[in-house]
Amino acid sequence: MYYFLFLVVVLTPVSASGFFRAKTCLTASEHLERLSANARSNTVECLDDTVGKALYWKTNILTYKLHSRGLSRFPGEEGRLRVIDEIRRSFEPWMGTDCGSVRFQFDGLTTSFGHKKNRINWIGFYDEEVWPYSTQVVAVTTLTTLTGDNAIIDADIEINSRDNVIGFDGAASDYDLRNLLTHEIGHFIGLDHSGVFDATMELQTDPGQIKKRDLDPDDVAGLCEIFPADFVSVQDDGCCSTLPAKKHGTGWVLFAFLAIIAIRRRV
Ligand SMILES: [Zn+2]
Repeated sequence: MYYFLFLVVVLTPVSASGFFRAKTCLTASEHLERLSANARSNTVECLDDTVGKALYWKTNILTYKLHSRGLSRFPGEEGRLRVIDEIRRSFEPWMGTDCGSVRFQFDGLTTSFGHKKNRINWIGFYDEEVWPYSTQVVAVTTLTTLTGDNAIIDADIEINSRDNVIGFDGAASDYDLRNLLTHEIGHFIGLDHSGVFDATMELQTDPGQIKKRDLDPDDVAGLCEIFPADFVSVQDDGCCSTLPAKKHGTGWVLFAFLAIIAIRRRV
């Protein structure tokens, strides 16, 4: 059995381009495919005969907020404006392709750390609070859907600035903010990790790395599958008539924790 699976993996092209959509769950063969592409995923394996569905947004105009406590290394209003500008620049590559159609808009500050019901997409730094994930993780994006649905209703990006130095200029000792965020924004739109080494959606990073600031053709291919030029938004009234609360259960699903991993160099 294992030999058979191995042959299937070897003889079957892993992926035409390498990118992977974030999905509700992965089948065993999809897990195997991703392992063979050296692309780790946090998506859980499908239960029973469930078929995983790709996560998607109903609109291609997405807003985001910055958590009001900002990044303490860059204090005051001047520092905040600098952070906001770096964040804005991190979204630009995803809006600058010939084939894609997504647009991002900065929508001010928020004090919320909620992942689900508020439907506020936010970016936050953990300077003082305890980082709730592994210290080997520099950044996490959490996508939320309604139970039983695969439409993303909320995406939040958290940066581990407590255990790591976050910078703007690609210094060898810093984790470059644009490098981190451009990757996390790929998760924001619904991409999982890619098996392409040079892709922005490749999951590992080091201090000083800046190559993820710019998109690889593999990332662009993923973007343009999710948000093609002829993308049509689906109306979402956000309320009562379309919420399948009773039909699908009562909850909100914190769908995936998709992280960029720090590989720490021991000098
Ligand atoms: Zn990641």
